[in-house]
Amino acid sequence: MGRYIGSVCRLCRREGNKLFLKGSRCYTEKCAIERRNYSPGQHGQARPRISEYQTQLREKQKLKRIYGLLERQFRGYFEKAARKKGITGENLLQMLERRLDNIVYRMGFCSSRKEARQMVNHGHFLVNGRKVDVASFLVKNDDVVELKPASRELAQIQTYLTAAEGRGIPQWLELDKANFKGRVKAIPTKEELAMPVNERLVVELYSR
Ligand code: SF4
Repeated sequence: MGRYIGSVCRLCRREGNKLFLKGSRCYTEKCAIERRNYSPGQHGQARPRISEYQTQLREKQKLKRIYGLLERQFRGYFEKAARKKGITGENLLQMLERRLDNIVYRMGFCSSRKEARQMVNHGHFLVNGRKVDVASFLVKNDDVVELKPASRELAQIQTYLTAAEGRGIPQWLELDKANFKGRVKAIPTKEELAMPVNERLVVELYSR
């Protein structure tokens, strides 16, 4: 399956938002958005005229890039969200947020979603005591996510957990740092997620 292998900071600059794709660097003044907050490329500083379609497209790209998904996977989430009861945009955000790689990142076991995905794929995490090595696994309310005992000695884990305290653990999650485990207290509402994305525009784009 294809994968984006270019500079992730270019993606943030393209969207004009911090998408937090590069781990601890995103929280420092070395962040490319802090230094050059304009689109990459020769015409990056020109002011383009943006159509309604482009606005919707950019919101979709932003959301897709935050979670590191390819178009087909993202579309799949949208279709499932549209079939569920409730507001499609919110369903979409909630489903993306329930991915195991995202939960591992949010709990602070890793410094980025990309890293979290790798660690999940390498089988470092248990969900309710069982090994789960599928990054797209959807975590439910009250599930317990835990770092496998054999992986607790990994040098970078403590550094990540400490760094995560700085950025804060969301209220809908609970972290027991001493025991390397966390619990999903509730599925977050759209307000709790406070994503820098207008999900309504994503729904409009796919409903064209
Ligand atoms: Fe985006 Fe992080 Fe790069 Fe800043 S450092 S531009 S937030 S990926």
